[in-house]
Parts: sequence; structure tokens; C-alpha cells
Amino acid sequence: MAGNRAEGIRWDLSDLFASHDDPRIEATLRECRARAESFGAKLRGKISRINPKELLEGTKELEEIEDSLSRIASYSSLLYSADSSKPEYQDLEQRVEQRVTEVRNLLLFFELEWLELDEETAQRSMRDPTLKGYAHYLKSLRRFRPHKLSEAEEKIVNEKDNTGRNAFGRLFSEITSTLTFSLEREGKSEELTLSEILALLHEPDRELRKNAMQTLYQGLSAHGQTLAFIYDTLVQDHLTMDRLRSYPNPMVERHLVNEIDGEAVGKMMEVTEANYGIAHDYFQLKASLLELPRLALYDQYAPVGKELTPFAFAQAQEVILGALEAFSPIFRQTASEFFAKRWIDAEIRKGKRGGAFCASPSPKLHPYILCNYTDNLRDVMTVAHELGHGLHGSLSRKQSFFNYDTPLTTAETASVFGEMLVFDYLVERQTDPRVQVALIAGKLEDALATVFRQNVLTRFEEAVFSKRRAGRLTPEAVGELWMSSNKPYYGSAVEMPDGYRWGWSYIPHFIHSRFYCYSYVFGQLLVLALYRMYREQGKSFVPKYLALLEAGGSDSPEALLKPLGVDIHDPKFWQTGFEELRALVARLQGLVEAAAGAVR
Ligand SMILES: [Zn+2]
Repeated sequence: MAGNRAEGIRWDLSDLFASHDDPRIEATLRECRARAESFGAKLRGKISRINPKELLEGTKELEEIEDSLSRIASYSSLLYSADSSKPEYQDLEQRVEQRVTEVRNLLLFFELEWLELDEETAQRSMRDPTLKGYAHYLKSLRRFRPHKLSEAEEKIVNEKDNTGRNAFGRLFSEITSTLTFSLEREGKSEELTLSEILALLHEPDRELRKNAMQTLYQGLSAHGQTLAFIYDTLVQDHLTMDRLRSYPNPMVERHLVNEIDGEAVGKMMEVTEANYGIAHDYFQLKASLLELPRLALYDQYAPVGKELTPFAFAQAQEVILGALEAFSPIFRQTASEFFAKRWIDAEIRKGKRGGAFCASPSPKLHPYILCNYTDNLRDVMTVAHELGHGLHGSLSRKQSFFNYDTPLTTAETASVFGEMLVFDYLVERQTDPRVQVALIAGKLEDALATVFRQNVLTRFEEAVFSKRRAGRLTPEAVGELWMSSNKPYYGSAVEMPDGYRWGWSYIPHFIHSRFYCYSYVFGQLLVLALYRMYREQGKSFVPKYLALLEAGGSDSPEALLKPLGVDIHDPKFWQTGFEELRALVARLQGLVEAAAGAVR
């Protein structure tokens, strides 16, 4: 049966709680509250005079309360994700959210008092050997300290943001989520949503793709004035807040969130630009596969080669475990548990949320995976991706709760690496070169869109912030900056239609989380480079990689990567990732040449 080839694959959440009305949920909530109250009674107002041993005890107590809260919150959200139609799950989700917030409010003083501490005293505490296991946690709490305003000011900012920047964000979401596009197709007009029209760019019919793209930009231009106004307002708001919070440039706040320094990011971006030629080579190769003299923008995602035959879930499991085993038996063993112990919910059901995720509620437990498995290659890769997160969450269980999670820049390492392993394994087992062509082209397009395009997006934002200093941004000005930021990437290899000047206007990252996009570049390039190291070093790479996953979020990405010989400040390291991309293009080229007749 196509469409639901994972029937019966449901998760078993009983390791968390027995059911939505399990009395242990209420009991745990009460216990957390009681513990939080006595925590407050003991430590409130005393953090400035606390000794390292007491600070350690306090941190551990806080961690245990947070760990319990995370399990309850995860349970209610997992139940709800798996079936949002049940009112009792909705009730639980709301009740838990409210109660967890109440407890967290009781705990908040600890962090605030820790932040108020002068630098010297805080440093002395963090250097104390007693606190070794929490030095990273305590230090990273303090990273925003120099940019905090007074409590009264922060309160005003928070309240005014609701009717200020957050309101503009909501307006953007409202406009873009209700956008419809009238597509003329075979004499008839169809109303399509944004995601439906974007999906048409993957169709084999060139005229349809061209038509879809024109319709997309026409539709966006109708809202261009408003979308540009929203963006202009938010950029100015950021610039104002950056001034008030003494951030030296618009990217610094994001670097702090990512626990990365700007210099390393700058080098990574420069190396990326020096490698745009790899994209141009690929675009030319794709043009020849499509028998075109040159690609137009709407040809970028046109299918080539032959699609892989659909997979049932059991087959996907076999392929994924096989690929993981080839890397390390520990990987296979750890991943097998997810299937055997029912930590995955894969079947498609009414009321279940879309997409896929992996949740790691607590290091004392194990992660859970949700996906909506149909039967195509995308879905196999999605399971591989989420299982990669799952492996990370399982292998880092020796870390305590505060050292468990990783920042954004490295959060996708294990998942994308897992995809690489499965991808390679799949390609090697194909006998039809046309299928291999489709697989490699798909992988390359993903990687190019992640590495190069996200770099373009980041450069665009830099240009926007720099131009805004001189005055208001008109839709024309934003469009110009967009086109000029894209030009080096597409070069003469891809023709950009004039309507593309509206290409920036529906991208939510620019509105909701500025400079988010370079984390994608970082994550993908890091994995490509690590994968190249694995190929070059073979088995000796495996234990180092396992150690990286086991370390969880116990230190900054830079420090955790050092034992693997990775220096994120070294342009040569970033170049390694591009060598892997270049090798993929060459592999595709070889296949195309070898199978010249068969490929089309
Ligand atoms: Zn992911």
C-alpha cells in the first residue's frame, strides 16, 4: 500500500508516563514545585556570598528540577504531537505548560543573581575545581551579561515588543501564510498556496516551472510594499537595540547565541565564496543533463536521472542499520534500540502533526523520534536524519542535563552525518546509473542550497543592515541588494529572471531570527569536512567521532571539535568540506559520461 508503508509503527511513551491521566504527572509537578520553593528559601538573595561547594549543590538541585520538568513537558508535547485531535491531550499540554512556567519563575532568581555577580567573583567560582563539571554551563549563562539592560528597562522592552517588533513579525506570518497565487494552467486558473507553488519548481515540465516561478514573483510583488515596510522596520529596531545594548555589529548577538566567535564565521564565509566555482560547475553539468545551453533559475530543482523505487519502512530500517553498522557497530546497536523498543512513531495518522523531529527529554532516559513516513527517498533520509539526532541524544547520556544539549551550530552534526552515511551506502548499492545520477544530484542540490545559498542569504542581511544605517529601505533598494548578493553565486551559470528581486520577501528567517542562516552553512560544511576526514582516516576516525557525540553540550563547539584536529579558525579546515563537494560533482560527472546514453 503506497502512502502508509509504516502502518503500525507507533511509539511507546511508557518510559515517561503511563497515560495522560497517570497520577505520577501531578505528583511530579507538585514535587517540582515544593523543591523549587525550598530552593528559593535556601538560596534567594545569597548567590553573591555563596561558596563553591554551595554553588555546586545549588546548580545540581536546579538541574534535577529542570530535568523532571523537561520529562513532563516532553511527555505532554509528544502525546499532543502524535494526536492533536484529543481534547484531553490539549488540556494536559496547557496545564503542564502553565505549571512548568510557575515552577520556572520560582527558579529564575538563581540565574539573575548569578548574572549580577561581578566578573572577578564569578571567575573565581568557575575556576574552582569543585565546579569543574558546570564551568561551561555557568560561563555560558553569563555571555549576554554585558548586553543586558536594567531590570526595569528589560521589562519595558519585553512589554513594548509585543506591540512592536513581535507584532510586525505576526503581520509578516499572517501575510505569508495566507498568500495565494493564481496559476494559469491549461486554460484554467488555479489558486495555490506558497508551498504548493514552490513545489512546482521540482516538476519535470519546464514550461510549468517557468510559469510557477513567474506567478510566484508576481504574487509576491503585489505585497512588496508591505513586506518591505515590515522588514525595514525590524532592521531599524535591531539597529536601535544593538546601540542600546552595546553590540558592536548586527551579527554579534547571534554569534553569542551560537557560542561561536565572529572571526571564525567570517573566515568560513570567505572560503565559501572562494568556492562558488563548484556550484557553477554543477549548474553547467545539470544544464547538459537537461539538454539546455544554460540553466534558468526555475531549472535549478528540475529532476534528473531516475527516481529510486519506493521503500517500505522495514526496508528503510534495514538500509539505515546497514549503513550505520558499516561505520561502527556501536552505531548499529544504539540505533537498533529505537526500532526494537518502539521509540519511533512513523505511521501516518489523522491528527498527527506533520514533518519530523527527535526529542531528547532527559539524559536519564532516551530520545523519541516522530516522522510521517510515506515511502520515498526523502523519507528514508528523514529517518536517517532523525536517527542521527537520536544517536547523539543516546550517546551523550553520560552528560548531566545542563551539559546535554548542543548549540545550533553543532546541533545538526550527527543528523547530517547520519544522512551522509546512508546516502553513500544507498548509492553504492544501486546498479542503475540513472538512479545513481538522481541520488547524487539530489544530494548536491541539498548541499549547495545549504552551503552556498545560505551564505548568500547572510551576505544579503549584512548588506541590508549596512544600507539601513543611511536611511529607510525601499522595496527597490532591498531588491537591488538581493540581486547583487545572489550574483556571485549564480554567476553566468544560471540566468536570474528580473522578478527574482522579490526572492527575499517570503523568507521567515530575516524576520524572526536575523543571521540565523550562517548556522546552516556551518553545520553542513562541518559535516562535509568531518566526512572527508572519515574517508581519509578510515577506522581511526570513528572513536574520535563517537567521543564528540558523547560529549554532548559539555563545552563550546570549538573546544569539543579540537580533539578531532578541527580548527574552525583555519580556512584550510573549511576548504576540506568543499573538497568533498567537489568530489561529489566529479563523481556525478563520471557517471554521466560513463552512462551517456542511458542517463536521459
Ligand atoms: Zn535536524
